[in-house]
Amino acid sequence: MKNIRNFCIIAHIDHGKSTLADRLLEFTSTVAEREMQNQLLDNMDLERERGITIKSHAIQMNYRYKGEDYILNLIDTPGHVDFSYEVSRSIAACEGALLIVDSSQGIEAQTISNLYLAIGSDLEIIPVLNKIDLPHAMPEEVSDQIIDLIGCDREDIIHASGKSGIGIEEILNAICDRIPAPKGDPAAPLQALIFDSVFNSYRGIEVYFRIYNGTLKKGEKVKFINTGKTYEADEIGVLKLNQEPRQEMAAGNVGYLISGIKNAKEVKVGDTITHVDRPATGIQGFEDVKPMVFAGIYPVETSEYEELRASMEKLQLNDASLVWEPETSAALGFGFRCGFLGMLHMEIVQERLEREFDMTVITTVPSVQFHAYTTKNEMVKVNAPSEMPEPNYIDHIEEPFIKAQIISKAEYVGPIITLCMEKRGILKNQTYLTSDRVELSFEMPLAEIVFDFFDKLKTISRGYASLDYELIGFRQSNMVKLDVMLNGEKVDALSAIVHREKAYEWGKRLCEKLRELLPRQMFEIAIQAAIGQKIIARETVKALRKNVLAKCYGGDISRKRKLLEKQKKGKKRMRQVGNVEIPQEAFLAVLKLD
Ligand code: GDP
Ligand code: MG
Repeated sequence: MKNIRNFCIIAHIDHGKSTLADRLLEFTSTVAEREMQNQLLDNMDLERERGITIKSHAIQMNYRYKGEDYILNLIDTPGHVDFSYEVSRSIAACEGALLIVDSSQGIEAQTISNLYLAIGSDLEIIPVLNKIDLPHAMPEEVSDQIIDLIGCDREDIIHASGKSGIGIEEILNAICDRIPAPKGDPAAPLQALIFDSVFNSYRGIEVYFRIYNGTLKKGEKVKFINTGKTYEADEIGVLKLNQEPRQEMAAGNVGYLISGIKNAKEVKVGDTITHVDRPATGIQGFEDVKPMVFAGIYPVETSEYEELRASMEKLQLNDASLVWEPETSAALGFGFRCGFLGMLHMEIVQERLEREFDMTVITTVPSVQFHAYTTKNEMVKVNAPSEMPEPNYIDHIEEPFIKAQIISKAEYVGPIITLCMEKRGILKNQTYLTSDRVELSFEMPLAEIVFDFFDKLKTISRGYASLDYELIGFRQSNMVKLDVMLNGEKVDALSAIVHREKAYEWGKRLCEKLRELLPRQMFEIAIQAAIGQKIIARETVKALRKNVLAKCYGGDISRKRKLLEKQKKGKKRMRQVGNVEIPQEAFLAVLKLD
């Protein structure tokens, strides 16, 4: 155990974590050269395409240093603001962290927030100044920032380049030298923390764990403490590029367990595995996730509801941050109200459902959670506009506020402040980190920033500003429910909760946007926005003049079938509501109003 090192890599997005991880795997010959492809740890298709790390992945390396053999367990973490939950889970399984900072960019908001998580868990921090090969690298200046932030010595900072391979050996040596070996007693009762799991359709659920105490042997009877279920450890092993089975694993190590579990609900990330014969108490797992954005997910074909439920259960296994419960919509029928960490997370869930589970789904208008206080002084948690009590019964409404921390080049401070004010933000603090880097802190309604704020911020700062935020509580706000009617029928899935001062403008623009997005049909479609009984905006989608099918009436039947087939394909991600067809984009139109 004294030669095991469990570490993670934390960094702001794009600072080169995945690339550096590739170099570590190469240098330790964990992957043969012919198996090497860029960003090896990002093995979900979606991650490769988007160039971001969504899931944390664990991998084991062997390394010989000063005549001794070391086992290094690396847990890769995502950098996007939506996924800090994944980061805290991987941090819990480690004793040390590489803190990667891009030497051409400097410290960013996510560097700081992830670093605080790591320091909070008492991890040993190894600072790495990355991308040192870039001609515009600023090693001195960025080193100053790092020293300021963590109070290390200048000599502690390793200069590296994941691209050209500089500093890789030095990093590996530092991991062995500076990160403490895991503590724990291999002879004590078994305590293994589940930090991740995935569904494998052939082998059942794979559980990833870190053993804190005790020893686990193949074939032993184990119990998951929270769920109370017992299993046999059919296969245990370590995670290399592929899984490598082992006969036994002891305290300090990280590995996987396969025991034929088929039901996703039986595995909870944060649960503790122990022996049936000699049980231990559970270790403190992870905090519950706090979803920031809620939206409905509905099958495009109503008959696929049960299949969608099964797919969501499997997806949830691999994405513990996804929460959901059944929901019924008058317009869309049976579906699920889901909680997401942010908009990127919501998009990814939708895409994974489609790619990995072959489902076609519609997501409805996203919303944050509001607290409605009734005249009887009861508090109702409103995750969907349809859950809002009738106006007569509402005493007041509270909305979630966040503290936003923005770091930017000084020249963009003006536009950033203007943007934040438009979003009902209050400037709380402004600090110069260096002569041309400023840290701004705002208090803002969550509803104003979860949707497109991040994109806007990037645009006005030419990509230089970075954002991080945390929830600070609920505050009273003047919110109203804005309903949308199509041909006089209220479509609950299109309702939104908005600030009263913005409601009229919203209603007007939303109707205009819907007019563009709703496909023309054989009849006219009236689009109306209303607050309570009051109509505040109206638009019309004109009827189509010609019946496309009329052309082949009485003609070639196969041609007619082809045409129908073609129309059906075009119907993907559309839902029929009454006699109106609504495409997916219409549900997200509220996000793109300004
Ligand atoms: P991550 O988001 O932190 O995982 O970052 P990636 O490893 O995906 O890298 C982000 C971008 O920076 C990619 O385009 C990489 O090719 C590039 N990059 C990564 N490391 C280096 C480096 O050391 N030098 C240079 N010049 N580019 C790098
Ligand atoms: Mg990455």
